[in-house]
Amino acid sequence: MSLQENSTFDYARLSKAISTRDLSYKLLMWIGDAIDKGLIQPSKVAHQTGGPDAATDWLRSNYYQIPEHLRPAEDDIAEFSAFFSTYLTSSFDVVEKPGTKGEGPTPTICRCELCMRIVNAPHLRAKKLYASDKRRAKFLMTERMLELATENQLVISHDRAAELISDKTVQRDAAFVAYGHWLIMRLSGQSDGPAILALWRLIAWDPRGGIRRGFTLNLGDFKVAERKLLATIRIAT
Ligand SMILES: [Zn+2]
Repeated sequence: MSLQENSTFDYARLSKAISTRDLSYKLLMWIGDAIDKGLIQPSKVAHQTGGPDAATDWLRSNYYQIPEHLRPAEDDIAEFSAFFSTYLTSSFDVVEKPGTKGEGPTPTICRCELCMRIVNAPHLRAKKLYASDKRRAKFLMTERMLELATENQLVISHDRAAELISDKTVQRDAAFVAYGHWLIMRLSGQSDGPAILALWRLIAWDPRGGIRRGFTLNLGDFKVAERKLLATIRIAT
């Protein structure tokens, strides 16, 4: 008899989130180039927040300037924008320097978090992570481990889960599971901030620094990681 394995993922949504992340990356690369060439204009409408609504507004007003293969289908704009806003604000910082577009005595363009990243797309910097972001990432991992245990009628304490992820292999499995959960949440514009970037680095980066050679996100790796994590929890309980 094989053990029952219940997933905490909706894999169809996870697959959607992975492709949305890929498209977000490609669109941002294009924006960097397009801003330099003056192909797209900064938003003159001031957005209340730099969240999903600002991204939707920006995308709608620039939709036809964006090459077809780099933009979401029209009926997908709201969901894509929600994700795209979390992608920009959780992962990148604007490099502060004099003359940064949008600064100065007479700002005539929107300076919300999202628009500042769009107009500065050619020189965005990956967010710097602090110890608190890494601690938060650990908390998010243990939270998902407890959820995975519950989903499989297992009981594990928060402390025990935290202890298990001190092992690097287990930690990477847990990072996949937590990152996958948050990828899906981001389709509705919810992020946990820089801790999500910390999770990403745990899965995509070589421990010696830099991205793993040939690394790409794919659904199969999330499935394998979740199965391995569940087996670890089962042995530990
Ligand atoms: Zn704005």
